[in-house]
Order: sequence, then structure tokens, then C-alpha cells
Amino acid sequence: MKPTDIIRPEIGALSSYHVQPAAGFIKLDAMENPYAFPQSLPELLQARLLERLSTVSLNRYPAADAPELKASIRYAMQIPAELDIMLGNGSDEIIQLIAMAVAKPGAALLSVEPAFVMFKMIATFCGLHYIGVSLKADFSLDAEAMVAAIAREQPAVIFIANPNNPTGNCFDRKSIARIISTAEKNGGLVVIDEAYFPFTTHAHESYLHNITEHENVVLMRTVSKLGLAGLRLGMLVGRQAWLQEFDKLRLPYNINALTQAAAAFAMEQYGELLKQCDVIKHERIRLAIALANISGIETFPSEANFILIRVTGDTSVNTEADKMFAKLRSRKILVKNTSQSHPLLANTLRLTVGTPTENDAMIAALNENP
Ligand SMILES: *Cc1c(COP(=O)(O)O)cnc(C)c1O
Repeated sequence: MKPTDIIRPEIGALSSYHVQPAAGFIKLDAMENPYAFPQSLPELLQARLLERLSTVSLNRYPAADAPELKASIRYAMQIPAELDIMLGNGSDEIIQLIAMAVAKPGAALLSVEPAFVMFKMIATFCGLHYIGVSLKADFSLDAEAMVAAIAREQPAVIFIANPNNPTGNCFDRKSIARIISTAEKNGGLVVIDEAYFPFTTHAHESYLHNITEHENVVLMRTVSKLGLAGLRLGMLVGRQAWLQEFDKLRLPYNINALTQAAAAFAMEQYGELLKQCDVIKHERIRLAIALANISGIETFPSEANFILIRVTGDTSVNTEADKMFAKLRSRKILVKNTSQSHPLLANTLRLTVGTPTENDAMIAALNENP
């Protein structure tokens, strides 16, 4: 027999999530914070973290519900007392838990396009029908099309990343509000994914303090873009009525003991992490201005720790972006070539904001004549 005799055909048709080999490269492809943790902390704090980690008993299972870590997250991120927190092994795991929970036969997951690729992939993993509603050409929400699609398709769940990946922009709050109220009438849950929240220019626009105004909204955050991608820790915040259902699907001990200890420490240093995010935000402005001065490159506005650019030229094919990607690679700079992933992304590259030195190297390479 062959594996494909029993593997679901839609799984057989998938390709695995591809991670580009990065050894020896300036790594600007995955929205990581370029400042090493804990090495970028003062020595005293590094010593305290090591001391904390040395007390972890690796022979024991970790705390199943991680109450201490949740308490420090609640404090650092100012999560209101009336909302519950559920932790995931990255927010990717949380997307998967939500998708599994709603995957009745025929149920649908709706998102925008282009969006974070895991929304669609996980819909497929869990046997959900996937609906992608195209953004407008300027990457804003097409509220009319969203409202129509929600009324027509009655999706069980709608994922909206704000700021959006890979476009980098925030969506208009009025449009998000319309989507939420339409979903509420049509029996759908809206998941707002605020992975890039630390980099927004309007931090007060987080949905965190509006969740309780609705029956059907939950919110995701992650420490990955904040500077701790290696820990694999994401959080879901929302009403207990929702979270207690998702929590039933969470595998016991999904947050390992080292992650719990390191993340609890990191929450105490949340201010340090936010300071780094501010440095990255400043660099984003400098990088955007430098990019705007390069002829043949169109720069899209960003409220995240990356900038999407279009290499202008023949946009019906992606050769311009491919050439630029290859040139950067030859200079040992790794970015993400997004040009094939959606028609609206023709000839685009996604550049993660790095350190000033890394960004200078990228700017120099982009400025070179072909
Ligand atoms: C990177 C990213 C995440 C990833 O989260 P993990 O916590 O690292 O799993 C979630 N949502 C969006 C939109 C992202 O870009």
C-alpha cells in the first residue's frame, strides 16, 4: 500500500511550510527581532534569567495551565480581569485549536487575501472550507465584499490580522466593526490577530479593550514578533465562554517548562522588549525613506516590523522581483519573495526591519544597478 491510499487527498496536495536555509545570511525574511535575547539585556538580567532557568526541573511535566505565566502576561499586556487567557505553542497552535473546534462538516473559515498563509493552510488541515476575500489594490479591506461573503457563506470563523501580513498595513476600524457586526448576525466568530501590535503607530487602536462589547470576538497576540520567536508562545484573549471550549482541545502541557520560565522572566522585562520594538519602529521609518529614494521600487506603508516593496517593471510577470531577490541573496541577504503568492503581490518582496547595519547592507544592495 502507499501512504496516499489513506492520507486525505487535500493533505496529499499540500506542500510543507517552506523555511529558507539561512546559515551565513543577514536574515531579514521572517520578522524576527534582530536583537538577541537575552544577550541584548544588561549582564545582571542575563544572569538572573540563567539562574531562573537553572531551577526548572526538567524531569517534571510543566505546569499544565501555566497560572504564573498567565498572571505575568496579564500584568505586562494589561489584559482586563474579565477576560480569560489561553496559551498556545505559538499563535499558530491557537489558530489550529480554533479551527479544530469549529470544524463541523461543511463549516467554513474566512479570511482576506493576501493574508497570513497559516489561516488557509490550517483550514485545510482541519477540513474546513476556506474562503479568501480579496483586499482592494491598496490592501485596504473591501468591507462590501466581506459583508456579502459573510452573509452568503456563513463562515464559522473569520481571521483578520491587524496589522496584516504580508502587506504591513492596519485596517480601517469602521470596516472591522462592520465585519464583526455582520458576523454576529450570521453566527460567526471573529479572531483579531494582533501579532504585530508592538509596532503599530496607533497602539490605542488595539481591540483588546473592545472585546467585551461583542459576543463574537477573540484576540490573539504572540511573543514571536516582540523578540522571542524561539520560545513559541502565543496567547488568545477573550470571554470565558469561548476560551473554555478551545481549551478542551489544547494538548496537556503544550507550553514546555523552559518556555514558561523564560517567558515569565521576559514579561518582567516587557518594558525592555517594547524599547527594542521602538528602536525597530525608528529603523522602519529610516528604511522606508531610503527605499522611497530608490528608483524602480514602490514602498507600501507599514505598521509592522517589515516593509513590503514592489519592484516596478512588468507586473504581469515576476521577473523583476525574482531578479532583485537573487541579487540580495548573492549579497548574502535573505528576504521573502512574496511575488508568486497572490496576484495583488506581483513583483513584491517583504523586507524584515533589521539592525541599522543590516538595513544599510540591504539598502546598498537594493541601490546597486542590475
Ligand atoms: C508571524 C505571525 C504569527 C505567528 O505567530 P507564532 O506565535 O510565531 O506562531 C501569527 N499571525 C501573524 C499574522 C503572523 O504574521
